[in-house]
Amino acid sequence: MTVLPTDRFTHEFVDFIPADLDAGVLYVSLPYATVMHLCACGCATKVASALDPTDYAITFDGETISLSPSIGNWNFHCRSHYVIRRGQVRWMPAMSDADIAAGRHCDRRAKTARDELFDAPTPPRVTPENDTTPVGGHGHIRQRVTVAIKGLIATIRGR
Ligand SMILES: [Zn+2]
Repeated sequence: MTVLPTDRFTHEFVDFIPADLDAGVLYVSLPYATVMHLCACGCATKVASALDPTDYAITFDGETISLSPSIGNWNFHCRSHYVIRRGQVRWMPAMSDADIAAGRHCDRRAKTARDELFDAPTPPRVTPENDTTPVGGHGHIRQRVTVAIKGLIATIRGR
């Protein structure tokens, strides 16, 4: 059986996302703030989009649904990339690994600091104890000059 790509999505507002999804239907669950559909390429992979200020948003104009930003299924074998605008699928260029990494980086920055902890090491916080930046105090400078002079004397004596 040949599965054709989907170029148009209808929509269904549901409370619960059904287990079996029809191709070409966006299932919108407001209670769960989730949109599910089968990948538009026809690979039958279920694509879940969380509706969240830092994730996906839908626009319902009374007839059709738009979903933004683009759907990038780079975790799937097909690596499909498309936008759904007013129910129409607009195919986008496939992303390179570098684009994907950059995109993920942006996503990560948009998300909470807690999520960030799982993905990237957080730079250590600068506290007064470990702050090595010079502070404009006379005591500091005098101490540094003394250390420098002592070092110089040691060098001269060492010759
Ligand atoms: Zn696909």
